[in-house]
Amino acid sequence: MLPFHLIIAGIQGSGKGTQSVLLSEHYKMPCIGVGDLIRNASKGNSVLANKVREIHNKGLLLPNKLVKEIVEKEVGKFPKGQTIIFEGYPRDMDQVKDFEDILKKRDIQKKKMIVITIKDKTVYQRLSGRRVCVSCGKIYMPPKSYQLNFCESCGGRLIKREDDNEEAIKRRLQVYREKTQPLIDYIRKQGDLVVINGEQTIPEVFKEIIKKLGEVFD
Ligand SMILES: [Zn+2]
Repeated sequence: MLPFHLIIAGIQGSGKGTQSVLLSEHYKMPCIGVGDLIRNASKGNSVLANKVREIHNKGLLLPNKLVKEIVEKEVGKFPKGQTIIFEGYPRDMDQVKDFEDILKKRDIQKKKMIVITIKDKTVYQRLSGRRVCVSCGKIYMPPKSYQLNFCESCGGRLIKREDDNEEAIKRRLQVYREKTQPLIDYIRKQGDLVVINGEQTIPEVFKEIIKKLGEVFD
């Protein structure tokens, strides 16, 4: 376990989900994938689940206050001295304030943010080649996505998501620049930023993260 929390950031297609899983295994730290967490929060019949569904049904984004509530509840499942990997959260300057609030109630407040950077061209290539399983939601990236028609886990059909088209990818890049870049600058000023080259293979990216986190230790 690392003596600090980890935030794994990067645009969609950067490989941050994959690296989070690898890091979680390597450091024996729990990983909270906030995208999945929010998706799961809408299931069931609790007051919270109903609220989340109602907002989603209107096609709206969850307000940060509600996202904070969901993340805080999940964080509370782990002992106070446990450090955690956060994937996809916080995403912007508003959320980082909530995040710091959540950490205040923990024994360890120290954090490092890993940002996996890739070129815009790579974002287009990876996302337009991305396929998702209609049954279990598993995601496949190129080149593997081009070799398969059915899911390896459940046999479900693989499809291209509607929002993996050029227009939508362009919008995501814009949002990332507007919302996430200020957060990255803020973390950099705190001295907590680790920048990783996401243009490499999965094992190479992983190796670079481990190496740079080792340097942070010393
Ligand atoms: Zn599947």
